[in-house]
Amino acid sequence: MAKSKGSGFVITMVCVTCGAEQFFDGAVPGSLTCPKCRSTVFREFATPVTPDEATLAQLEDQSRSMSYGDPSPATARDDVRELDS
Ligand SMILES: [Zn+2]
Repeated sequence: MAKSKGSGFVITMVCVTCGAEQFFDGAVPGSLTCPKCRSTVFREFATPVTPDEATLAQLEDQSRSMSYGDPSPATARDDVRELDS
């Protein structure tokens, strides 16, 4: 059992073309190719190995930092307001 990474997650990459699943213990390769159909488009799922409170908190942090990656959240909010009025 290799537990050196200690990520607490299994990352599942699901090919959007054929649905083939690949599993990664914490680290997903930067460029990933589907072994079945050669597609490079995947959906990513992070599954806690041990669903305890600490892991759930990590999940929340993860989704929060992902929203920080939005290029311009303020602009998006203005767009919504324009549509509203
Ligand atoms: Zn595929």
